[in-house]
Amino acid sequence: MKIVLLGPPGAGKGTQAKSISNRYSIPHISTGDIFRKNISENTPLGIEAKKYIDKGQLVPDEVTINMVKDRLQEDDCKSGFLLDGFPRTVIQAEALQEFLLERDKNLDTALLIEVPTEFILERMTGRRVCPSCGASYHIKYNPPIHGDKCDVCGSDIIQRKDDSEETVSERLDVYKKQTQPLIDFYKEKNLLSVVDGTKAINEVFEGICALLGDFE
Ligand code: ADP
Ligand code: ADP
Ligand code: ZN
Repeated sequence: MKIVLLGPPGAGKGTQAKSISNRYSIPHISTGDIFRKNISENTPLGIEAKKYIDKGQLVPDEVTINMVKDRLQEDDCKSGFLLDGFPRTVIQAEALQEFLLERDKNLDTALLIEVPTEFILERMTGRRVCPSCGASYHIKYNPPIHGDKCDVCGSDIIQRKDDSEETVSERLDVYKKQTQPLIDFYKEKNLLSVVDGTKAINEVFEGICALLGDFE
């Protein structure tokens, strides 16, 4: 299956992506995670990306598109992939369409996790993440089992610098201006599926599986 996840920051894309990736055995490709890994390793890509990420702005299209194309050409993507956080602009979405078309491939669906703005601030300021494996937690809705340690790998969980209240509001503006137009982009191509993201994490996952059943 070839899936793109859409939704505002904090919608639950990363959380659901982990479960989808396990259930359907497709690699979870999170552009945010790739950028953060590069930042922690101080690579040239990381140094460039950090300038934008810390301000809540998007990393330039060219850099992001090349990074994703490289990733999609790895072996594990042959039977499918789950993109989380990409595309985020119409230019990125067009680049992905072109990349797939050149290889005689098609997306199965763009899955929108729909969550109204009033939920977002609490989700994002309460988010904690594992810097080692990318697992996402919430202090109220999805706390780790053992204090501040990641359930999956045992590392200390942290708060992302760009999850502060000021940066969150910038990220929401960026989402509305640059990413929300993708909903119509995929609707016009008849590729959009929508799931209600306001329910509990496991219920959202059930909703997603019901939709994805059609593409298996
Ligand atoms: P969230 O899941 O909270 O939306 P991400 O981890 O997906 O956040 O992304 C964190 C940051 O990384 C974004 O705010 C942006 O600066 C950068 N980023 C991630 N994906 C992209 C992309 N496709 N295009 C440009 N910038 C991106
Ligand atoms: P995204 O990748 O879309 O930015 P995350 O998956 O990181 O979003 O989720 C954002 C925050 O909201 C995290 O703290 C996560 O634990 C929490 N969260 C995710 N889904 C739900 C849900 N359905 N109900 C309550 N909290 C959720
Ligand atoms: Zn972990």
